[in-house]
Amino acid sequence: MAARLLLLRVFPRAAVPFGRGRARLAPTSVRAMSAGGIPTDEEQATGLERRALQAMKRGEDPYSMFKPKRYAGTKDDPHIVPSIGDKRLVGCICEEDNSTIIWFWVHKGENHRCPQCGSHYKLVHHELPH
Ligand SMILES: [Zn+2]
Repeated sequence: MAARLLLLRVFPRAAVPFGRGRARLAPTSVRAMSAGGIPTDEEQATGLERRALQAMKRGEDPYSMFKPKRYAGTKDDPHIVPSIGDKRLVGCICEEDNSTIIWFWVHKGENHRCPQCGSHYKLVHHELPH
């Protein structure tokens, strides 16, 4: 009886007598989150985050969020240099333990070689997402 009174006090419209000495909660309006569980990132993302998630779903990487690919640096498999312009300054650490960086410009349309180690670099146009 005390539990029924408590329910009536807390949920005055929801408690409906059911059986002897019991109360059943009447259906109330249900929010989407409680019915379908916790929404996913795609369902609740908005704005820039939503655009990034949609691009990642298509396999694109507009904000360079993925780990960069490794290239051999040969003529057939040059290092890819993404750029929004026609040229980009590149620094080559020729050997793993080098403390100096060799800087040179890579221009659109032609492969460039590092003057010290000979690695090949190729400029590829990169479109900014916005
Ligand atoms: Zn080099």
